Amino acid sequence: TSLANQIAAGEVVVRPASCVKELVENSLDAGAKRISVTLTEGGIAGILVQDDGVGMDEADAQLAFARHASSKVYEERDLTRIRTLGFRGEALASIAAVARVTLTTRQAGADAALEIKVAGGEMAPIRHVGAAVGTSIEVRDLFYNTPARLKYLRSVQTEQAKSVEIVQRAALSRPDVAFSCQTEHHVLFQTPGNGDMRTVLASLYGVGEAKQLLAVTGETNDYVVKGYIGRPTQGRASRSHAHLFVNGRPVRNIAVHQAVIRGYKNRLMVGKQPMYAIYIEMDPSLIDVNVHPHKEEVRFSEEGDVTRFVAEAIAAALDETLL
Ligand code: ADP
Ligand code: MG
Repeated sequence: TSLANQIAAGEVVVRPASCVKELVENSLDAGAKRISVTLTEGGIAGILVQDDGVGMDEADAQLAFARHASSKVYEERDLTRIRTLGFRGEALASIAAVARVTLTTRQAGADAALEIKVAGGEMAPIRHVGAAVGTSIEVRDLFYNTPARLKYLRSVQTEQAKSVEIVQRAALSRPDVAFSCQTEHHVLFQTPGNGDMRTVLASLYGVGEAKQLLAVTGETNDYVVKGYIGRPTQGRASRSHAHLFVNGRPVRNIAVHQAVIRGYKNRLMVGKQPMYAIYIEMDPSLIDVNVHPHKEEVRFSEEGDVTRFVAEAIAAALDETLL
């Protein structure tokens, strides 16, 4: 029912950035090579995510907004694996329960694109329209029918920053995908999708800054780490410039964050936090399964091993440049 959907939506959709995260993950799941995100009034008035992925056929499109209707195969063990993206068929239903949504989608070889409009969980009949192969989802007037939720949103500026950070993290996790992120007035950033991490960092933080970055690498039997950290002189203080990825997925982990800072401070007396993008690959069985997979937070069964390893890799990267 529409009320049940609204209640469930509260868990999935707390702000524009939650919609952006779900929509971008869907685009990645659909194999998109180009993803464009447009934010209007920080995403509160509008979010438009366009991709060139595989699109949906009529049956998929009809079902896309039904709760627990997922075209993706989820095995039981996926629930405990960090690699799983998405909410298992809840995201679109949840978003459509608290916003006005227009879905336009077209598969390769289809005669026309399909358009479905949903508002407050009520779906209008499918229409045939002209559009390129791929999917575009427009979310307008988030929380228009749940004013209590609307009240909890922060300023346009803050909400926009949270959404942009989601797109940045997606872009950093997939250098092979071309992302563009803009307001209706100007481009915020664009990545070329050429697979090169440093180019993504240059797109986000500027060419000058990206040139200065130090490469981090390390490997043990259980863990592989790679990535980039800022030089001591380029002390970026903000947490939003701290990016951690585990098995390709953007996550947060305070212990690893502290280990990065510690690796830094062991070598240099710097007051500021460096910017960093650190990628860890590990056997998923070493990831603590007790944390809900929807959460960005990740925990490790051998946290001490992970943090020691990361701190050493950072210290080694710094040693090399200081020699
Ligand atoms: P989930 O991602 O867990 O399957 P969602 O509610 O996010 O659930 O999406 C529901 C379904 O809609 C997906 O399973 C997929 O079939 C379809 N879908 C959503 N977004 C896209 C997209 N960008 N491209 C192709 N199909 C999509
Ligand atoms: Mg999804």
